[in-house]
Amino acid sequence: MTKIAIIGAGLSGLVVAERLHQLADVETFEKSRGVGGRMATRYADPFQFDHGAQYFTVRRHRFRDFLQLYLKGGVVAEWPLRMAMLEEGQAPEPMDTDHVRYVGVPKMNALAKALAEDKTVHLQTRVEAVVPNGDGWQLVSDDGRDLGRFDWVVTAIPSPQASAILPDGFVHQNDIARVEMSGNFTLMLGFDTDLPIDWDGARTRYSSIGWIAVNSAKPGREAGTSIVIQSTNEWADEFLEEDKDKITAHLREEAEKLMGVTLPQPVHTAIHRWRYAAVQTPVGEPFLADEKQRLAACGDWCLEGKVEGGFESGMALADYLEERL
Ligand SMILES: Cc1cc2nc3c(=O)[nH]c(=O)nc-3n(C[C@H](O)[C@H](O)[C@H](O)COP(=O)(O)OP(=O)(O)OC[C@H]3O[C@@H](n4cnc5c(N)ncnc54)[C@H](O)[C@@H]3O)c2cc1C
Repeated sequence: MTKIAIIGAGLSGLVVAERLHQLADVETFEKSRGVGGRMATRYADPFQFDHGAQYFTVRRHRFRDFLQLYLKGGVVAEWPLRMAMLEEGQAPEPMDTDHVRYVGVPKMNALAKALAEDKTVHLQTRVEAVVPNGDGWQLVSDDGRDLGRFDWVVTAIPSPQASAILPDGFVHQNDIARVEMSGNFTLMLGFDTDLPIDWDGARTRYSSIGWIAVNSAKPGREAGTSIVIQSTNEWADEFLEEDKDKITAHLREEAEKLMGVTLPQPVHTAIHRWRYAAVQTPVGEPFLADEKQRLAACGDWCLEGKVEGGFESGMALADYLEERL
């Protein structure tokens, strides 16, 4: 059987694994303790925060069809949220929601977890190098371990990380270099009391904050009142190396101005910096493959920086590889 290594157990990598695991010998390598990548959740008992993707939408039939099984199984659910537009000095404006929004249940990475269930996924294994070995590739971890020899290597990680791992001879290095990704700061606040607000998710105008969500209002989250505050990507890029306490103070103060309330003292506060959160300039192709060298790259940065973009990229690469097995 052809041996395929997938680097990254976010949605795009796991979709490739799901499609190919019965046709090839597939192993997935993931640097974190769990799967899901940017579809991420953090616990701080009793609070729970989706600190990456907030929800996802479905625009194309393939993603819609794929999700049916998981909707039926309760792994994914609609989030019928009350949306608002926030602007400093103005009352929150209720917003019409033009499309259905979905979330993983009971946390954002539930879909990735379901996909990973019957696959070989090596957690806490950061791939550092892809080294030529005869007509294949040897994978080496950051702590110098030999992770095995593979016929095909697929990266399913953000573009700057893919560029660093893929050998210089990968024919699409210049295409990857053209991709632009931007950062995000996510502030997580847990309260032991309800908040005096009548919306569940809010977009903003004229602010360094782009999104505020009542995470505890999502389906399946019974934990205490948990609020997720996400900066705009532009603001995050400007202050990416700034002291995290200063970022925390700024976002909290800004959130109070937008929400028009004085927030009670949170019983839990945490901040997360995403260096590669959003895609500003995608490749414009569903995936990048080098057939001669048997190297390929997929991920949301190929098409669009959304959950559905990651899914479409993984599916398209799986179509391509399936024909070559
Ligand atoms: C703050 C934020 C808000 C977002 N909001 C939304 C939203 O509301 N709606 C929406 O649709 N999308 C949203 N997104 C985007 C969405 O999360 C992504 O488009 C999608 O999850 C990308 O999936 P992926 O598989 O391409 O990459 P990722 O999810 O990034 O998966 C890559 C995986 O590779 C692993 N990895 C990286 N390097 C290595 C290595 N060297 N070795 C081993 N493993 C490695 C990482 O740990 C990660 O698990 C948001 C993202 C962020 C960060």
